[in-house]
Amino acid sequence: MKLNERGLLIVISGPSGVGKGTVRRALFEMKNHNLVYSVSVTTRPPRAGEVDGKDYYFVDRNTFLQEIKEDKFLEYAEFVGNFYGTPKDKVDEALDSGKEVVLEIEVEGALQVREKMKEAVFIFLVPPSKKALYERLRARGTEDPEIVEKRFKKAEKEFSLAYKYDYIVVNDDVNNAADKIMAIIRAEHARTQRT
Ligand code: 5GP
Repeated sequence: MKLNERGLLIVISGPSGVGKGTVRRALFEMKNHNLVYSVSVTTRPPRAGEVDGKDYYFVDRNTFLQEIKEDKFLEYAEFVGNFYGTPKDKVDEALDSGKEVVLEIEVEGALQVREKMKEAVFIFLVPPSKKALYERLRARGTEDPEIVEKRFKKAEKEFSLAYKYDYIVVNDDVNNAADKIMAIIRAEHARTQRT
């Protein structure tokens, strides 16, 4: 029997460079799931290969500020000089239709969602070590060294907020981490009787 018609909101968060995007993609490649990814809006310029509407909705700063005024975001945050936000309407629509929605967002935004949606599931992804995170950020090569330093400094602060999450998953191996997240989602499903 299905007691809860509304879908589950799953928030995957953690410091920049921990591999949230890679783990999320591995999660979506798994079979037999009912997950929908919430594409965020950002003022960051696209990286090579990123597609508008798939990776992000890329907008300019004025458009983003206007959308804040119009209360279009479930949450938003400024992260190392750029804005990132989750479109509220799309998330609500998907949850109302019984789908499970995955947000992949940084810590400040995740904590805003925590305040608004008590029933959501919060997963904090951590690297095997801080050194591994630093190496990852550097090796990614998508940002200037100065930005890498800023992201790493920010990560130090973000670690201290891990206790606010429901689950902590170590990203020692992408598939292993994705498996653990899927197990959490299935368990939460059963717990809230959404099957
Ligand atoms: P990146 O520039 O590396 O794509 O993303 C920078 C950070 O912003 C990452 O930690 C990413 O998870 C986070 N992020 C992406 N979309 C959103 C969003 O909609 N809201 C918030 N708060 N953070 C986001």
